[in-house]
Amino acid sequence: MRTVVWFRGKDLRISDHLPLRDAARAGEVIPLFVLDPYFFAPERARELPHRMQFLLDSLRALEHNLAHRGTRLVVVAGRSVEVVPALAARWKADKVVAHRWVEPFGRERDRRVAAALDGKLELYEGETLLPPGTLRTGAGNPYAVFSQFARAFHRALTPPEPSAAPKSLPPLPRVAFDAAPIPTCEDLGITRNDAVLEGGERAGRARLDAFVRGAAARYHELRDRMDLAGTSRLSADLKFGTLSARQVWAAVTKALGASEAARVFTNELVWREFSHSTLWDRPELLERPFRPAFEGFPWEDDDALWRAWVTGHTGYPVVDASARQLLGEGFVHNRARMISASFLAKHLLVDYRRGEAHYMKYLTDGDWAQNNAGWQWSAGSGCDAQPYFRVFNPMTQGEKFDPDGAYVRRWVPELAKMPAKYIHAPWDAPADVLRAAGVRLGADYPRPVVDHKEARARFLERAAKHLKRPAAAPDET
Ligand SMILES: Cc1cc2nc3c(=O)[nH]c(=O)nc-3n(C[C@H](O)[C@H](O)[C@H](O)COP(=O)(O)OP(=O)(O)OC[C@H]3O[C@@H](n4cnc5c(N)ncnc54)[C@H](O)[C@@H]3O)c2cc1C
Repeated sequence: MRTVVWFRGKDLRISDHLPLRDAARAGEVIPLFVLDPYFFAPERARELPHRMQFLLDSLRALEHNLAHRGTRLVVVAGRSVEVVPALAARWKADKVVAHRWVEPFGRERDRRVAAALDGKLELYEGETLLPPGTLRTGAGNPYAVFSQFARAFHRALTPPEPSAAPKSLPPLPRVAFDAAPIPTCEDLGITRNDAVLEGGERAGRARLDAFVRGAAARYHELRDRMDLAGTSRLSADLKFGTLSARQVWAAVTKALGASEAARVFTNELVWREFSHSTLWDRPELLERPFRPAFEGFPWEDDDALWRAWVTGHTGYPVVDASARQLLGEGFVHNRARMISASFLAKHLLVDYRRGEAHYMKYLTDGDWAQNNAGWQWSAGSGCDAQPYFRVFNPMTQGEKFDPDGAYVRRWVPELAKMPAKYIHAPWDAPADVLRAAGVRLGADYPRPVVDHKEARARFLERAAKHLKRPAAAPDET
């Protein structure tokens, strides 16, 4: 038996990789990665610099790990839908195995490759803990309420037991000795950013170990604090599969048992499952709001406001810190993502899809299902989303989740000397406080681009009218 193991950028590891494990047990293995111009054409790669950097690091690590086990990663450039069937035929492979993708374009690719391979493509589950689309309500429908999905998930889940990496792999058959080199960032016109997390299985494993030994125990208390390293930072590993969801789940539950910390952490992994499952069942969500009432929402899409948000110059310190963190290191804390996304859609009336695309461009963990779910949740249009009338207040959110202002100070150095009392609302500071902090509002740091109360009222009125709801409930978070 000769099997092509087709790595596709979401499973860049050799441990707990069931297609690889099974292929190695069955006979000869050809590990393949295709540099598809869909992602790797320089004009496309430059659109996702941080993800591409992480992915290239991870590919090199995969190449190294496979070589260490006695085989080689065959890297080939070309369109997957053409290259994979052609190589399978040339190499006389008995089958091609890969992990399933949930995104509509990945499913279309797989449909075409499967048709060309005439039954020889075998897709494995494994990006998520349970295959997307398997949990159903009593009436047989996909879940639209997270708590119900989570209950069904826990009923269905058998505690995962990840498999170890193969100790050795069969040598690469001679027929497959035609590999292209893995490109560098420079080859693709990307300037390397050293603030982006290092990719690769070993780096991912080190992050998981550090989290389990450290922040995990207080995850339930500190996960919302933007100023602390209270979360796992495993999102890019889960996105690129340098760690599997099974490995993360198993490591955390083993270390923390039935604690509150483990319950709250695994609940976030269930949110991940929910967003993947939701996109599987509703592929149109990458284009359209989950709630039809949001169709045709009268967004304003003001370009000056958009630029202020993108560059971190809205005059709202937490919002600005998150925008600059995104550009600076390709990551944004979850609480800051929620505040910032809500602010763009609700305060600035910019179509959430514009923010979603911007996040996909710069987030290292940019994932179609999770990012779409996060944006639609924040805008109020999504599956089990934040109700439209809950408008995050960036000042009170800042005071609560960045109490000393360390997060703002790190990313908005203009405000570094502001006392904590005013750091989330510098316009409230008396003139002598501003002077002592070296801040001239409107010169060193912008005045707010919109007034919070007015912007909030404007959104609520517009949303109530468009969604044909009674006047908004006075609910502020
Ligand atoms: C507007 C917006 C956009 C987002 N875009 C993405 C994205 O593109 N990719 C992405 O992985 N996450 C996204 N999230 C979810 C969340 O912000 C990140 O997963 C989290 O901040 C990553 O940091 P961490 O690994 O330290 O998370 P932890 O708190 O340590 O959580 C562990 C893991 O659980 C998953 N997770 C955590 N929170 C969520 C959530 N709310 N929804 C789904 N899964 C979650 C992630 O895989 C994460 O790595 C988005 C959230 C919002 C509000």
